[in-house]
Amino acid sequence: MSEPRRTRPKGTQDFVPPDSARLLHVENVFRRLAERCGYQEIVTPTFEHTDVFVKSSGEGSDIVTKEMYSFKDRGERDLTLRPEGTPGVVRAVLENRLRLPCRLYYVGPYFRYCRPQKGRTREFHQVGVEALGEASPLVDAEIIYFGTDFFRSLGISDCTVQVNSIGCRDCRPAYRETLRKSLFDRKERLCADCHVRLERNPLRVFDCKVESCQLAIQDAPAPRQHLCRACELHHEQVLSALSRRGLLYEANDRLVRGLDYYDRTTFEYISASLGAQDSLGGGGRYDYLVEEFGGPATPAVGVAIGLERTLLAAPAVPLPENRHLAFVVWLSEAELRAAEDLADRLRAAGIPAQIDYDSSKVKGQFKSADAARAACCVIIGPDEMSKGVYSLKDLATGEQHEVSSDAVAEAVRALFRD
Ligand SMILES: [Zn+2]
Ligand SMILES: [Zn+2]
Repeated sequence: MSEPRRTRPKGTQDFVPPDSARLLHVENVFRRLAERCGYQEIVTPTFEHTDVFVKSSGEGSDIVTKEMYSFKDRGERDLTLRPEGTPGVVRAVLENRLRLPCRLYYVGPYFRYCRPQKGRTREFHQVGVEALGEASPLVDAEIIYFGTDFFRSLGISDCTVQVNSIGCRDCRPAYRETLRKSLFDRKERLCADCHVRLERNPLRVFDCKVESCQLAIQDAPAPRQHLCRACELHHEQVLSALSRRGLLYEANDRLVRGLDYYDRTTFEYISASLGAQDSLGGGGRYDYLVEEFGGPATPAVGVAIGLERTLLAAPAVPLPENRHLAFVVWLSEAELRAAEDLADRLRAAGIPAQIDYDSSKVKGQFKSADAARAACCVIIGPDEMSKGVYSLKDLATGEQHEVSSDAVAEAVRALFRD
């Protein structure tokens, strides 16, 4: 029989210690900031019925046509590993009849069949917030600011945010036709994908990565110039709320983002240090998505941030050195049970404790303590057993002294250094 493969699937990544702690750290910074703004965590399945994504992200979007991990399960259901967060959250809000307005955040793995590159993997980690049932442009601004605050908290100083408005139900249809006509005139300069976009949703041509397409549409009419009065006002209020916070945004009138459900505000965070794959995340308003799921009219706005690129853009913060570990050392089989008891007692007191059960020799146990980067060893031998004490050895200084059974937890804690 052949061995199982020792290589991970293309486009996936292992987070091994100590780097795994960096991912967790970033997730926890996000949780803390989101909860500060009144968001509560929601956990939804990693796979959904395929139409949850097809009908929300848009049938012609790149995500749906090229990037989804879709499969039939053994019960012949059409399922898809979630390529993004928002549709599953909206589905869950409706299915669980959550009271609106509600503020939710999520943290977890997402899946897209993309061409793997630095900072871009087929399984990736994303965090995001969704404010459902809030219509004010001040919420858009608060969320945009929230994202910059997150990056700043991680020491990312070269992050800029681009902002745009793509209009609403009232003004977009007319604009879409204007754009379609204008693009039709330069159709022969557009790629095959853009020909399809032209038919289905011409706004997506702005998202095309092909350089000749970008050149061809340079002077195409932008959504920003075709907003209705209400959208114009909404956008002005978003921008002035950002200015009030001293946030230097960049107006990008071509920023549409590749999803069908956005309206009005769209925004994206860009890091100069990342090169071609420079987007850290982004978001926008999706005032019609809840209705498209059959729910009540519900204005909504959200942001999603990719953690792989965030980790690349963040300066390598030194991880706290984990010296918060006590190693319990036993001299002979006769003390092994007492060692077990002590380790349990330390753990119950909140002190990480470990025993090397396999090395019957003390030298081997000390080696293990070193390898585990323990701060100290608590030693139990026949002498200690008869006196009812432990010997506590500080592994940083080599000093050793006896402590009573009652005082051991405090004495160990005193040796933990930050
Ligand atoms: Zn409008
Ligand atoms: Zn194109």
